[in-house]
Amino acid sequence: MSNNEQWDDATLAIRYGYQRTLEGEHSEAMFLTSSFVYDSAAQAAERFSGQVPGNIYSRFTNPTVATFERRIAALEGGERAVATGSGMAAILTTCLGLLNAGDHVICSRSVFGATQILFEKQLSRFGVQTTFVDLTDLSAWHNAVQHNTKLLFLETPSNPLMEVGDITALSQIAKAAGAWLAVDNCLLTPILQKPLSLGADIVIHSATKFIDGQGRALGGAIVGSHALMEPIYSFVRTAGPSMSPFNAWLFIKGLETLAIRMKAQSEQALAIASWLKAHPAVESVFYTGLSDHPQADLIARQQKAGGAVLSFRVKGGRKEAWRVVDAVMIFSRSANLGDVKSIITHPATTTHGRVAEADRLAAGITENLIRLSIGLESVDDLRADLARGLDALLSA
Ligand SMILES: *Cc1c(COP(=O)(O)O)cnc(C)c1O
Repeated sequence: MSNNEQWDDATLAIRYGYQRTLEGEHSEAMFLTSSFVYDSAAQAAERFSGQVPGNIYSRFTNPTVATFERRIAALEGGERAVATGSGMAAILTTCLGLLNAGDHVICSRSVFGATQILFEKQLSRFGVQTTFVDLTDLSAWHNAVQHNTKLLFLETPSNPLMEVGDITALSQIAKAAGAWLAVDNCLLTPILQKPLSLGADIVIHSATKFIDGQGRALGGAIVGSHALMEPIYSFVRTAGPSMSPFNAWLFIKGLETLAIRMKAQSEQALAIASWLKAHPAVESVFYTGLSDHPQADLIARQQKAGGAVLSFRVKGGRKEAWRVVDAVMIFSRSANLGDVKSIITHPATTTHGRVAEADRLAAGITENLIRLSIGLESVDDLRADLARGLDALLSA
């Protein structure tokens, strides 16, 4: 196996951790098999007892999934990764692998909608209580700590308003509380941000987004130390939120272009954000790649670039925002992100449509807010696509 943790990310993402079969295949083989066979009864017994490592059943381990796990672990700088069937399964598995009834979680208020519902409505049914706090208010995190706090959970940058959480400062609060810090690194990927190197204990991914990059499959991953991943792996093996080998193979192919995609999509997003800032129909732009972002110093310490996702407010309300959304001919009107195809979203009536209006406004999800996930189409064409709706607002 060709392994060298010192390689740069682009090399790790293409080369790390594959065990070539005797056929000498160049592209990674896909092991579409649910179970494995043994040479003898004794070998089967050794495998099942754990005396001798080896595959048993693809709910437990699968060679294609294992290649994906080694690669994502190397990219995040973690000892071990556990793959799951979706990003939400990764978050659920982290909680059910590590927490017990009676434990307490502190979670950023600005997390993916399903993540918030998972903590608030589902885990609470099993005796895990969650306090939600403002991502950027360190004293709120500190003050929310209880004797039974076990996990601090955040996404940074936040979606859609692109606020940034200080991973190192939060890791100190977690450590003092005897709790773990988990960071959902979906928006930036290890190419642009490595939470473990900043002090986090656990990194979580929805591989569905940038890791695949082409909107084909659902998957997730959890990365951390051997000690933390062991109970998490045990949960996956027993409960079954495992990644399909077919999806793992797609993600291995996605990883091969991750470094160059994140760089190129960040450059395109910066060009779009800068152009939007100067457009007379735009009220404000939220993007961590802009040098006048209010948290620019923290961003420079924590991120290598701004990533592909940004948002902006048009002058006006829902009517004006919808005009821009309805005028596009290239951007996909969708609620997804992370694809090479650019996507436009109206958060207040889609991703955040079920959030109570007062909460939505408190979170800054106003009716005139539009989110963009910038892909790899020509940036000139993307600008022209947005200009059609924005220019029309000026003449209205
Ligand atoms: C999409 C997403 C998830 C959930 O991932 P799925 O693969 O859809 O289950 C979690 N966190 C963030 C930040 C996401 O964007």
